[in-house]
Amino acid sequence: MAKKKFSLRRLKSIKLKVFVLLLVFSIVPMVVLRYGILRTFENKEVERRMIELNSQSKLMSTQIASSGYIEDPTKEVINAELLQLSNIYDGRIMIVDHSYTIIKDTYQMDEGKIITSTEVVTSFQGEVNSHYDRKFEYIEMTMPIINPDGQEIIGVFIISVSSESILNEESFYAAQADLITIIVAIVGFCLALFFSQVLVHPLTKLRHQLNERKNGLKDEELHVKESFETEVLCEEINGLFKNMKALDESRQEFVSNVSHELKTPITSMKVLADSLLSQEDTPAELYREFMQDIAEEIDRESKIISDLLSLVKMDKQNATLQIEKISINELLEVIMKRIKPIAEKAEVDLVLESFRPVTAEVDEVKLSLAISNLVENAVKYNKEGGFVKVTLNADHQYFYIDVEDNGMGIPEESLDHVFERFYRVDKSHSREIGGTGLGLAITKSSIVMHKGAIKVASELGRGTTFSVRIPLNYIA
Ligand code: ADP
Repeated sequence: MAKKKFSLRRLKSIKLKVFVLLLVFSIVPMVVLRYGILRTFENKEVERRMIELNSQSKLMSTQIASSGYIEDPTKEVINAELLQLSNIYDGRIMIVDHSYTIIKDTYQMDEGKIITSTEVVTSFQGEVNSHYDRKFEYIEMTMPIINPDGQEIIGVFIISVSSESILNEESFYAAQADLITIIVAIVGFCLALFFSQVLVHPLTKLRHQLNERKNGLKDEELHVKESFETEVLCEEINGLFKNMKALDESRQEFVSNVSHELKTPITSMKVLADSLLSQEDTPAELYREFMQDIAEEIDRESKIISDLLSLVKMDKQNATLQIEKISINELLEVIMKRIKPIAEKAEVDLVLESFRPVTAEVDEVKLSLAISNLVENAVKYNKEGGFVKVTLNADHQYFYIDVEDNGMGIPEESLDHVFERFYRVDKSHSREIGGTGLGLAITKSSIVMHKGAIKVASELGRGTTFSVRIPLNYIA
């Protein structure tokens, strides 16, 4: 069974197809040519023979008519001539008189018999008939014998001759043509074998290079420049490998970042717990303070884990959105209400400005998470007495949310990185205020899932604005 499958797969090979195609294209024209040329030769020869017979027969008919042979078929001279003519052409001549009686047959078989074939009848009406029978290999011709004054048809001249000589000559040429066809077929076979090998060679080379890469023998880029197609294919595959490599690197980096981030609170907890354990008679106050620190580290660990879970959920290729048509104004009001106490605590003024009522098709939970992160950041990275202004606007296609603050701002060199996982401009400050470096990554994933876009503009020390644009109608 396995063997059968293997051979069937082989039948689909391009090499085999090219080989068969080349072979067919070299042999078929040859066979067609052979058949065509031989047929033309035969037709021409038959035509030539008919013209010859026609003129000879005409001459003979005139002689028969003028000699009065129809009335007296014993005339020696004419009979001798008829015999001679039939011998030359290896054929048979019959003369029919006006009563359809055969008065002369050079084969002497049918003399005295009546003949009423169509050819004879039409010849009595003045027609000259000629006919070639390929199967029985003969040419037959009937023509009227007209009396010398040209008025009356007094008899019919029938001549049938063998076409064997033509066919013999044709078979001689056919044998020659067969020999040439065989030679062409052998040459065609060799050329087809050679060219199918040459044409498929770039693909074979590509397969070898891919195999070497797969088995880890080589890590170079693929290069098969023998054909345009394989060159382009190599470029595509190299691009794919590059993407895969980048993906693998970012995955490795992510895993090491995650491990590091998760380890930091645990290390702190271990240090705190160890120092408590190493002291005897620890005062209750110190105990309480250390335990509070440990509780904070636990909160931090749990925040990192929940952020990671949110991110993983967004990252899943087939993550599904629960799309509903909701009021974006209401969604923003709920977010503002939730963050208001934090803003008040940080002495930051929080304002929402909606230019128009906006309803859109979004996943409420995921979009709410995205915008909350932006507003929370705007509060977190602000200063006492600062402000955060959230504006909502829309056109016929998109709605726009801007989150503007006049806080600490982001240095220019960091602007391209803020959406990366675990990226923080100031690690220790972010850690102090409970950042994980995952917030903006989560926000971006959520917005991209909504087929939207986000951009950031910032000036260090002056403030930051995040601008979000999302289609009003969800595009699946
Ligand atoms: P974090 O959990 O640290 O806040 P984010 O991914 O939300 O992580 O943000 C990444 C980094 O971008 C932050 O650490 C901070 O340095 C910077 N950042 C984000 N938002 C603002 C903002 N509104 N103003 C200034 N810096 C910001």
